[in-house]
Amino acid sequence: MKIDKMDLLLKSQELRRVFGENENSTIDIFSLVASIESITLVRYPMSENFSGLCIKEKGVSLIAVNSKMTIGRQRFSLAHELFHLYYDSSMTAICYAEIGSGSEIERSADIFASYFLIPPLSLKKDIAELESRRATGRINVDDVVYLEQKYGVSRQAILVRLLDEKCISKYYADNMKSDVISSARYLGYSSELYLPSPEKDRYGTFGCMIKQANAALSKSLISVGKYEEILLQAFRPDIVYGDDGGGEVFD
Ligand SMILES: [Zn+2]
Repeated sequence: MKIDKMDLLLKSQELRRVFGENENSTIDIFSLVASIESITLVRYPMSENFSGLCIKEKGVSLIAVNSKMTIGRQRFSLAHELFHLYYDSSMTAICYAEIGSGSEIERSADIFASYFLIPPLSLKKDIAELESRRATGRINVDDVVYLEQKYGVSRQAILVRLLDEKCISKYYADNMKSDVISSARYLGYSSELYLPSPEKDRYGTFGCMIKQANAALSKSLISVGKYEEILLQAFRPDIVYGDDGGGEVFD
């Protein structure tokens, strides 16, 4: 069956509205997902073949992303998993790393993720403005870096959309697949988006499960020992043993 892109666009806009985001805003997707009451978010270093997974169970859901992938790609994976959570009837999805491949559901989740992070109307407006500034009337590599930084996505993710918009050629896109980090650094951006999570941040559990453990402890439903055991299994020694980042700063 042919994938209905318009339907995926409408779904991405609908979910933005549900989360209180407007149609064109850029999204801090890690904070957004961690704030959703019923989701437990896990960062975990998986095999390079996998990007993430989604498990749904009785109003409580778990989303995990592969923390060995770049931050830009992890943001995309998280948006992809939101499609499984809200629009896929399967209770479990295990997702492969290659974008735009696999089953119809997997490809739909990728298109949804792209629309969710890079709203088409906003992208079209950006492209028109950037093109108008160039003597050639075409966007260049500086503009590509600007766009991937603005929307917080990988080079691959932005090139797919620019090809879709027909504002770059396949040849030009192929040339921009290398020197990604240096092109961003040259323009004064941090390379964070293009690198995997730092070693110390590769394991972590956030959201629902942590809140439930705290609630169970405060109601004396579990012992302090059990509470600490749960948190350590959830890769949160920072809660059990205190922050290891050199103390709190209020600024
Ligand atoms: Zn998937």
